Amino acid sequence: MRYISTRGEAPSRDFEGVLLAGLAEDGGLFVPETWPVLTSAEWRKLRGLPYPDLAAHILALFTGGQPDHAALLPMLRQAYAGFGHPAVAPLVQLDTRMFALELFHGPTLAFKDMAMQALGPLFDHVLARRGERLTIVGATSGDTGSAAIEACRDRAAIDIVILHPEGRTSLVQRRQMTTVLAPNVANLAIEGSFDDCQDLVKAMFADAPFRDEMRLSAVNSINWARIALQIPYYVASALALGAPDREVAFSVPTGNFGNVLAAWAARRMGLPIAQLLIGSNRNDILTRFLSGNDMTMRAVEPSFSPSMDIQVSSNFERLLFELLGRDATATADTMRRFRAEGRMPVPDAAWRSATQVFRGFALDDAGTLAEIRRLHGQGYLADPHTAIGTAAAMASPPSDPAIPIVVAATAHPAKFPDAVRQATGIEAPLPSRLADLYERPERFSRLPADLGAIEAFVRRHTLRNVA
Ligand SMILES: *Cc1c(COP(=O)(O)O)cnc(C)c1O
Repeated sequence: MRYISTRGEAPSRDFEGVLLAGLAEDGGLFVPETWPVLTSAEWRKLRGLPYPDLAAHILALFTGGQPDHAALLPMLRQAYAGFGHPAVAPLVQLDTRMFALELFHGPTLAFKDMAMQALGPLFDHVLARRGERLTIVGATSGDTGSAAIEACRDRAAIDIVILHPEGRTSLVQRRQMTTVLAPNVANLAIEGSFDDCQDLVKAMFADAPFRDEMRLSAVNSINWARIALQIPYYVASALALGAPDREVAFSVPTGNFGNVLAAWAARRMGLPIAQLLIGSNRNDILTRFLSGNDMTMRAVEPSFSPSMDIQVSSNFERLLFELLGRDATATADTMRRFRAEGRMPVPDAAWRSATQVFRGFALDDAGTLAEIRRLHGQGYLADPHTAIGTAAAMASPPSDPAIPIVVAATAHPAKFPDAVRQATGIEAPLPSRLADLYERPERFSRLPADLGAIEAFVRRHTLRNVA
């Protein structure tokens, strides 16, 4: 299995190559050269497998034997062993046709653990085989950073430095990062915004001598391995509801477009998915695109669902590449114009084909609270991201009532206690394994948004054990 860049100017790589590289050298994103497609009989054979076994089967379709299924299985069993639910990603029925797919039973209480917990063992396996080490740097507005830190803590071949905007993450999110005292983990509170943090990380990667010396790597959502590791839960839930002999729909609260892209990939692989609903908050660029082919960048505004406070959904480029008939030159040109002009020129035919599968829905903060309240009235406590997913499902369900809608429940309600309290008056309790989070000691360093200072810090952290 080879991977090609959406922009067509980078050499193709194998799975391990894309795992370690993240972004392609031409600025594009890696996609499989061909999509694996399963027959109905092959889907049926996957029914009833324990989650890690199912995930190993799906991931093996994308690794080309390196690592193979036998090597992947123990890694994935280890990855999901610490989850707080025996089903890993349980389905909870909300009403006659709507289900919550709870993706928040991992160590940081958000869906990013589903992929990240497996990335740790995968990186270790590949690095050990090659006798290499690397330093992961990343910027986070909250959830990604803690998931990456939990995935990499105490791993022999990995150091990790995560930048977060000081004072702009929730207390739970910050403490989930800063209370990990493993020696290979460093947290930086940056005096600036999330965009400043992201720009600093990009600048470190653009500094080629520094990047090569530190062996920098990223685990952000453009890494193909993360997308691949998000496909299994769509497969598992669809099979549980009757696929491939029954169609299903998914509703996914969306920011960087990674999670819903994985659902699209499952559909591309032959899973009968009738519809993909995309939920967003007031940062509604995807909804504007789907309703009127208007992909125009605006300023990012804060909301109750901060993990979706994003204007440029980086993984959208992978869908764009497919919508443009895998024309890499057209994809590169479109992305260049988007960057330069702030508006993405998508040809009408490509836009129309997107609207066949995807439907967008945007909800403001007041609507989000109202939906959390409505769900609570039905006996389900949802976080703000999940509530946007259920609201999208209520607003535009597939017209055939026999099609069940699975909502990706992307965070535990205790992760966003303020919104949950405002909506319901209820204090969502942290699961017992995190009950002492607010008492644990923290460790982090404060730095200005200055590239030189941050590179010096990363160098000291990476070389701390070198005499
Ligand atoms: C990251 C995140 C999202 C958005 O996922 P994308 O893959 O960026 O679309 C939604 N909800 C929560 C809780 C998240 O942490």
